[in-house]
Amino acid sequence: MTKKILILPGDGIGPEIVAQTEKVLAFLIDQRGIKLELEHGLLGGCAVDAAGVPLPDETLAKAKESDAILLGSVGGPKWDTIERSIRPERGLLGIRSGLGLFANLRPAVLFPQLANASTLREDVVSGLDIMIVRELTGGIYFGQPRGIKELEDGQRQGFNTLVYSESEIERIARVAFEIASKRQKRVCSVDKANVLEATELWREVVTNVAKDYPDIELEHMYVDNAAMQLVRNPKQFDVMVTTNMFGDILSDLASMLTGSIGMLPSASLASDGSGMYEPIHGSAPDIAGQNLANPLATILSLSMLFRYSLDEAQIADQIDQAVSQVLTDGLRTKDINAEGMTCVGTNEMGDAVVKALSSQR
Ligand code: NAD
Repeated sequence: MTKKILILPGDGIGPEIVAQTEKVLAFLIDQRGIKLELEHGLLGGCAVDAAGVPLPDETLAKAKESDAILLGSVGGPKWDTIERSIRPERGLLGIRSGLGLFANLRPAVLFPQLANASTLREDVVSGLDIMIVRELTGGIYFGQPRGIKELEDGQRQGFNTLVYSESEIERIARVAFEIASKRQKRVCSVDKANVLEATELWREVVTNVAKDYPDIELEHMYVDNAAMQLVRNPKQFDVMVTTNMFGDILSDLASMLTGSIGMLPSASLASDGSGMYEPIHGSAPDIAGQNLANPLATILSLSMLFRYSLDEAQIADQIDQAVSQVLTDGLRTKDINAEGMTCVGTNEMGDAVVKALSSQR
């Protein structure tokens, strides 16, 4: 059956980087015979301008009918001062919850060609390949009760609630173990079980799920130690699985070990295997429309889309290899440029990836 992909270019550099990724898609459809039905939609500031809301009903309906969504990025100064409930970022939260995207996958992979882009020593980060699996729809970001109330003595008190049910923990743990089974077969579950009861349960449930995956090695680590270990010796990790808030913080930390925001993709998956794929960076309004944006994070997000929602690991590998090839050829957008390399624009980088794909085999 032909799979449906919804493409949401979004705002700022979104349309430019998505256009390069569509070149890759067009090549795969025309030259490799991949059967896909592509649709386009509005999300973010462009949707506010066109329809008055950041997530039009039509976009959510199309998203629900799709097997996967490719997103550029949303937001920008133009919409920073409009009413909070219709800001572009609300569209992003709306589509995530509307589709039940509970598992956020953030790989931190360092291409050897870019080892000198990290702020850490090359020997500490070269060969880095971590997958952080973050729970995305539960935990303290969504727990009730929450708010700011006035106490009897007149001062205000802010409060949030960290809650996790067994089923929420179990489904994210299974995602992590399944992914690890296709990698180095190691999972590190990150919690704060010594202080927080909710993560004491987390540890217990993850340990139970591990019994179904006897060939996967499970380790537990407190979040404070995990942060330290990520900087001290990041290559010790294969798959890390953690709560919404811990994952938010650790995945940003891990991604920056690679030193290049324009290189990092992400996936957010639902329980039926469908998902939304997007670069981790924002809409970079400072460079939008100038042919300066690095499209590789979005192209690598397409690779994740093939790997996780379409079960086409071979195509995903080919896209990854094409990206690696252009880096080996010395091509760099401005954000990752270095002495002796050839600095190219967004368009040229997209063309180079297609060329590298076409010369494979
Ligand atoms: P940003 O990620 O857009 O930009 C941070 C810096 O990185 C900027 O200097 C930018 O030029 C650079 N950069 C980012 N992506 C790049 C790329 N592909 N190539 C080259 N350089 C790149 O973060 P920000 O400036 O904090 O946010 C800008 C807007 O993006 C805001 O409106 C914010 O709300 C939004 N945002 C959206 C998402 C999303 O769509 N998922 C995520 C983060 C921020």
